[in-house]
Amino acid sequence: MPLLKSSGDEKLNWAIVIHGGAGSDPQKWNDAKTKIREAGLNRALSAGRDALANGTNALDTVELVIRILEDDAAFNAGRGAVLTKEGNVELDASIMDGKTRACGAVAGVTATRNPINLARLVMTETPHVLLAGKGANQFAEQQNVPLVAPDYFLSKARFPENEPHFGTVGCAVLDSDGNLAAGTSTGGTSKKLPGRVGDSPIVGAGTYAANDTCAVSGTGVGEEYIRNSVAYDVAARMRYANESIEDAVTVIMQKTLQTGVGGIIALSKDGKIVMQHNTPGMSCGAADSTGRFETHLILKDGGSPLSNEPTDATNPSRTQTQITDLLLQQVKDWNQGNIDAFMKPYWNSDQLTFSSGGKVTRGYAKTLQGYKERYPDVKTMGTLGFEKLEFQALGNDAMQVLGTWKLARDSQPMEGRFTLVLRKFPEGWKIIHDHTSKTPEDEVQE
Ligand code: ASP
Repeated sequence: MPLLKSSGDEKLNWAIVIHGGAGSDPQKWNDAKTKIREAGLNRALSAGRDALANGTNALDTVELVIRILEDDAAFNAGRGAVLTKEGNVELDASIMDGKTRACGAVAGVTATRNPINLARLVMTETPHVLLAGKGANQFAEQQNVPLVAPDYFLSKARFPENEPHFGTVGCAVLDSDGNLAAGTSTGGTSKKLPGRVGDSPIVGAGTYAANDTCAVSGTGVGEEYIRNSVAYDVAARMRYANESIEDAVTVIMQKTLQTGVGGIIALSKDGKIVMQHNTPGMSCGAADSTGRFETHLILKDGGSPLSNEPTDATNPSRTQTQITDLLLQQVKDWNQGNIDAFMKPYWNSDQLTFSSGGKVTRGYAKTLQGYKERYPDVKTMGTLGFEKLEFQALGNDAMQVLGTWKLARDSQPMEGRFTLVLRKFPEGWKIIHDHTSKTPEDEVQE
């Protein structure tokens, strides 16, 4: 059983994050609605936590948790699903196994009590990924899954027609074997055209899981999630651009999707949980093996890591930790011989300035090229260390960092000083200027 490290020092070996839909401001709800939502989230999250603590695998846990939410009329999935323009339910769901990338989904089912269960059966019992409409209903009958009569669906009673809080449900899990899984289930959008399919049953749009990166479930205006391949984009940013899960979700929530569109829950392979929304509220919750257990109807500043912390001038320690982590990661990447990863915290812009040994290089590409020329192999790269970091805030979103660097290697060990200027971008802190010199004396030539 692999033991993964959480941000603290405690061992983390499983984690779970759930959502119950993004939408309206919960501060405007009445007490009854607030209570049933909170109770529903707590019930589902507790069941997921207990299952994982008892060794249940990721896929089973996702299905279990979503079934509970589907049976709860407080959510727009299963029992509480919203109605189409014609007054019927058409339910969508999907599930994905991060270990094998097997997935299954159903769209537009009308009588299945637990669409997530049917989605799982599409995955395991057919060679297909998505069954829709009539065929999906027939498949439900063949598989003997619990079917219900139309009056089982309580939408009208629970959700006034103008209720903008969507209430889709989703779950992402990391189990104690290091496997990820995700699932999503919904009644879709209220008064949708019959036959309309949203993102929830579309793997890569509303749901995605792959063990090398993350597990994701989205909620919001499904058409936007499909257009932008949202769930897959979180994983792709991590996989190809080396972004952290938090950076990946933040960029999508703040840049790709327009404000008011929805929310994302995501869980990385090392147990990092991200919950963000750009709507007024999102029902969600997170738990892990360190004892974390929390549910929310709204996250401060939509869960954004950028705006929910006090400004840097008033919270220097948080900023210093973030930047120190960034520099430590750089040292690690350098010492693994990975110059591309080492360059990641640099501003990817033509305006980056890099000054070393009296020579000024402008732009990310040229700086990267310069590093690669000067350090063509691991031997030349040696072992890097940073020491004596000093931080000076330059306003709220810029920081100057002074320090010393050392390069231990067989031939010609070196050391020197550096002055970095970092600025805070939507995707996080980036080095916009790096002035490096050797000690005791600056040399003009490299
Ligand atoms: N994404 C869902 C859909 O468009 C709705 C929601 O998440 O609220 O079907």
